[in-house]
Amino acid sequence: MTQKIALVGVNGRMGRALVQAVQEDKSSLLSAAFVRQGSALTGLDAGEVTGFGRLDLPMQDSLDTSLFDVLIDFTRPEATMAYMNACVSAKKPMVIGTTGFSAAELTEMQAAAQQIPIVFAPNFSVGVNLLLGLVAKAAQVLTDYDIEVIEAHHRYKVDAPSGTALRLGQAAADALGWDLNQCAVYGREGITGERPAQQIGFATVRGGDVVGDHTVLFAGLGERVELTHKASSRLTFAQGAVRAAHWLAHQPAGLYDMQDVLGLR
Ligand code: NAD
Repeated sequence: MTQKIALVGVNGRMGRALVQAVQEDKSSLLSAAFVRQGSALTGLDAGEVTGFGRLDLPMQDSLDTSLFDVLIDFTRPEATMAYMNACVSAKKPMVIGTTGFSAAELTEMQAAAQQIPIVFAPNFSVGVNLLLGLVAKAAQVLTDYDIEVIEAHHRYKVDAPSGTALRLGQAAADALGWDLNQCAVYGREGITGERPAQQIGFATVRGGDVVGDHTVLFAGLGERVELTHKASSRLTFAQGAVRAAHWLAHQPAGLYDMQDVLGLR
């Protein structure tokens, strides 16, 4: 059955990739395209603005929940929270790819997911979701190795470390029974002293147009293992989000992630 999918933040980098992914997916219909309140793009054709060619779909600046079966949101935390509340009121499922939420916002999302099904993932690519399992396995086998997560993204990214880097660190910490809040170190400077054993370090690189690189380094005495994923196109995230939207149609209320969608849990 064709699913009516709506997008918010259509003019963003991920919004453009999502227009392409929905258009290319035979079981999806791009039924509505939303931009932020008061945007100068309101009324313009979503396809023309995103470079996809005319779609006869004027962009709207106020969310109309009657126009879609599922909403896909890759925007900013404050915008996602507002769209999520509207979806809860209308009992519509939601796919959330936005990153950089505060602890309070994540608690709000958990409460919303008691009423509607939500897929929330810091990374919708199949490769990164496979990597999460590989990292957990490596952490269990490579005991006494130092774990560091290194990520690189384009110059426009506004949060650090990336949601994916944090999720990779979480996968390693969970596999070892560690509390990530206790063992994470975000960047180092000055006289840091020797590295304690029970620590997961995060290093962030920002520049140019890097779509998203992540490496989890396991450094032992005499050898290193590096598990790396490199995204070369945002389309991989967008296609994963569309796949999640279809999967959501058959789920009860709850908070899911891409591991659930791909059956990797
Ligand atoms: P972008 O800056 O290119 O686009 C952001 C979009 O959000 C724009 O369309 C903007 O108009 C809209 N927006 C911002 N504030 C808004 C508001 N208050 N109300 C309504 N709309 C608002 O960013 P991007 O590179 O497309 O990334 C968007 C988000 O997706 C980021 O959080 C990024 O980290 C995340 N992301 C996630 C994945 C994943 O797989 N989960 C992959 C790539 C990016």
